[in-house]
Amino acid sequence: MTKVKDGEICSFCGAHITSDRILIHGLHGAICENCVQAVNDVMRDIREEEGQRQRSEMKVNLLKPKEIKAKLDEYVIGQDEAKKVISVAVYNHYKRILYDQQDDVDIEKSNIILVGDTGTGKTLMARTIAQLLDVPFCIADATVFTEAGYVGEDVESILTRLLQAADYDVARAERGIVFIDEIDKVARKGADNPSITRDVSGEGVQQSLLKLLEGSLVNVPPQGGRKHPEQKFTVVNTKNILFIGSGAFNSINKIIGERMNTNVIGYNKKHQELDKNNMMQYISAQDLKTFGLIPELCGRFPVITYMNALDSDALKRILTEPKNALIKQYIRLFEIDGIELSFDEDALNYIVSKAVELKLGARGLRSIIEKIMTNAMFEFPSSKKKKIKITADYAKEQFENSIFSFLD
Ligand code: ADP
Repeated sequence: MTKVKDGEICSFCGAHITSDRILIHGLHGAICENCVQAVNDVMRDIREEEGQRQRSEMKVNLLKPKEIKAKLDEYVIGQDEAKKVISVAVYNHYKRILYDQQDDVDIEKSNIILVGDTGTGKTLMARTIAQLLDVPFCIADATVFTEAGYVGEDVESILTRLLQAADYDVARAERGIVFIDEIDKVARKGADNPSITRDVSGEGVQQSLLKLLEGSLVNVPPQGGRKHPEQKFTVVNTKNILFIGSGAFNSINKIIGERMNTNVIGYNKKHQELDKNNMMQYISAQDLKTFGLIPELCGRFPVITYMNALDSDALKRILTEPKNALIKQYIRLFEIDGIELSFDEDALNYIVSKAVELKLGARGLRSIIEKIMTNAMFEFPSSKKKKIKITADYAKEQFENSIFSFLD
């Protein structure tokens, strides 16, 4: 370092340096104190990022498919076929990440599409998987996405949520699970509707989803949205992110039925014995295409499975069996106040029958019990009574008297 002569130039930033500043000379150039500081900051960021990457490397709690299914059984009632398919897909997906990095055999991603009515446990299934594996998880609603340039959210904002779920640890986010709800709502509108010339909510969004799904480097705005134009982007590689698409795909049964009926012609008798009560079990990528997903998108979701509609038996089990079953939660709430709460079998049957009427799957159970229990939760903590038994008559009375009845 020699004394700076007025007007000397920093070879980094090109600024003219005055003699009161520091300029460090090297063999072929010089660097000013501002640039030294900037380089220092950049180096610190790089080291921090690298350290974080290494820390979170290999942090996936990899369970075998049977173990995954057994764990799912603790939280999700029924849906055996879906559990099996998902356990295998998830196992393969993470095996691919953890063990196949240098190999020349490139194992493809196992993104999953879950088809099933609302309230059958699709979200619960995905969320439980993420918890078991201890990977970041986020839910995105496909209906709010738009093509770039239209009002709404860009698909990149999905990754903003994943980053948030990963506490901004990029490496962890890059191994997370993204649940895209209502993916059926971005289906291409029927070819019989030629009036749609710019299909904002449909095909365009599917196209932009492709980029995320196929594994690419995506610029993610850390705060999401376009309200913060000054924010720095974070680059996220989606190669190892597992995407689970989910939707009800209303009346896809008909599409499956039509395809099966056409295909079975010429097959032997055995193949013709279709289980007409559960056509969903035959669902294939072809049906999703007919429904309106573009072939490229179907190609990015190689695993397709279905969730059964929940009958009364399943709903009753959901009430009482899972680790955090609703009934267990209410019992606990009362227990904290030293009150012993119990439900008559008939009261449970009443709750289930109302949930069946509502046709919201298990989703209805919670609001029904809440209506039944509100008065008791209000009165009992201040009373001397230490026991409460919910009978069918009490449940019926409370439910029907509820001012907020949503059946009105
Ligand atoms: P979906 O995503 O299919 O619309 P959710 O997974 O959000 O449904 O389920 C709605 C509610 O019902 C959640 O509280 C969930 O715990 C419960 N539920 C739904 N299906 C099941 C199931 N098969 N087993 C246990 N709970 C379930």
